[in-house]
Amino acid sequence: MTKKVVILGSTGSIGTQTLDVIKHNQDIEVVGLTANSRIDLLEEQIKQFRPKIVCVMHEDKARVLKDRLDSQSIDVEVVCGVKGLSTVATIEEVDIVVTAVVGMIGLIPTIEAIKVGKTIALANKETLVTAGELVMHLAKEKNVSILPVDSEHSAIFQCLQGNTHQSIDKLILTASGGPFRTFSKDELKKVTVEQALKHPNWVMGSKITIDSATLMNKGLEVIEAKHLFDVDPSQIDVVVHKESIIHSMVAYQDGSTIAQLGMPDMRHPIAYALYYPERRVSEYIKKLDLVAIGSLSFEAPRKDDFPCLQLAYDALEIGGTMTAVLNAANEEVVASFLNKQISFMQIPEIIHTVMDKHICINRPSLEQILECDRWAREYSREQVAKCY
Ligand code: NDP
Ligand code: MG
Repeated sequence: MTKKVVILGSTGSIGTQTLDVIKHNQDIEVVGLTANSRIDLLEEQIKQFRPKIVCVMHEDKARVLKDRLDSQSIDVEVVCGVKGLSTVATIEEVDIVVTAVVGMIGLIPTIEAIKVGKTIALANKETLVTAGELVMHLAKEKNVSILPVDSEHSAIFQCLQGNTHQSIDKLILTASGGPFRTFSKDELKKVTVEQALKHPNWVMGSKITIDSATLMNKGLEVIEAKHLFDVDPSQIDVVVHKESIIHSMVAYQDGSTIAQLGMPDMRHPIAYALYYPERRVSEYIKKLDLVAIGSLSFEAPRKDDFPCLQLAYDALEIGGTMTAVLNAANEEVVASFLNKQISFMQIPEIIHTVMDKHICINRPSLEQILECDRWAREYSREQVAKCY
């Protein structure tokens, strides 16, 4: 039976790579696509994959796209806004929803998709950072699978196959260390947006690229791992592995550690999630050549110089709404850094200030989470405004 998918965020890095996997396999039907504003690329994708429905966040751009499609007699429904995202995420005939939008905007459509029983191929880590307990609880209740797309979590998911939960000792997330792995504290104070956007191993959207440079990405992934694999935060370690060949590992109580290796190419974890439990032939992805790579290295993360990682562990330890606040503050300050309003080292400083001010709510409802998200964004913007 042909699988039917929708991709939320099809014009981004994960979205386009998901379509590439689908193009190479030729046996998945694309029913829905969404974009924020890049309607030219979305139009190309519509012509190639012929979805039934698409969503463009901006209403004006949605109208422009609809006019263009009508003039070419291409029959596609065009919806807009957050409501439109949820409409695409819940189309009846769809089996898998790939969540590849960036940021907490992915939360509501993911919840709506889970409610109607869709399998989730989850790239959007901000969903679990913001509302992990709520989302995982709902998925369990609805008997919905959440298949990780993030390479570290896909690696752990693969390393867990055939083993029991009780036998896990630790999950070991690998981190590339980002472009500033070897920079001194003083050098870090002066780094530019352009430098931060040059990731050594991966080509990704700008937000996650900055998160990788601050190590917040790894922090968000620690929180994501806690929710996906239901372990104690003390069981999640991070090791810097600059080659990005080992995508993560599971250490078992018998002293064995199982690792998953592959070239750093997101099409691997995307294909694994789309076809799970099947492993598809993927000639289009470069094969791993360990002799050519020669050696693999490991070092401890520099938590003092990259405070975002510790802030994420702290937020997870505190729990409740604190991880939503961490995420919201991070989204805001990363946008401000990209706009050149704050410096690189002001990113962790402001997040810390926002977390300090927050009065945490335990076992929050969705409404309380959304309210804390709003507050954290506003308070972060106030802190940013003080910087210039
Ligand atoms: P990109 O910035 O490349 O793409 C984001 C996608 O979301 C685009 O389709 C974009 O539309 C859309 N989008 C952006 N803002 C909004 C909004 N406000 N409302 C609706 N749609 C929006 O991001 P990535 O593909 O890099 O990342 C996507 C997610 O996957 C993130 O959560 C990231 O952390 C995660 N991830 C990414 C990895 C990677 O290798 N890139 C690896 C692991 C996880 P438009 O193109 O129109 O702007
Ligand atoms: Mg990752």
